[in-house]
Amino acid sequence: MTNLTNIGDLLAHAYQIEIEAVERYQMLADQMEVHNNSELEKLFRKLAYHEGQHAEEIRTQMTDANVPELKPGEFRWAGPDSPEAVDLGDIHYMMTPWHALQLALKAEQQAFAFFDEFRRSASDPDIKRLADEFAEEEEEHVAMVLKELEKYPEPDDDWDDDPDPPVSPE
Ligand code: ZN
Repeated sequence: MTNLTNIGDLLAHAYQIEIEAVERYQMLADQMEVHNNSELEKLFRKLAYHEGQHAEEIRTQMTDANVPELKPGEFRWAGPDSPEAVDLGDIHYMMTPWHALQLALKAEQQAFAFFDEFRRSASDPDIKRLADEFAEEEEEHVAMVLKELEKYPEPDDDWDDDPDPPVSPE
């Protein structure tokens, strides 16, 4: 990440992080529905709702501050995806609650790191304060996921042994 210093950069990146978080949690919730794990499904739906609410708030701030949405090539993350996005390849059809929570944890930690770096490098007090709010919010999400992980031990190495695997098209 290079030189993100203005309010527009902060809001536009934050908006993208939230939008992708919504998608991620909806996907993870769908996975847990397949597993008949209604407790985790509820948690992921709740998080999706949370992040969606936040995305709306940020959108309003963007409109007020006249900040345009960024186009795909204009983001300044280290990789191709935003910090909170989950690699779709990591979502496995036999994914256990533990795996789903690990993905969520990774994404939330990366989102936190993004805003944390932002608040450290910002010199403008208003930007610092806003980045601070975002960072704290992500920190809460990390804590929520960690708390949930206490209930789900890491599965054995053979968690993905499937006696009847799906046939992949040639
Ligand atoms: Zn989050």
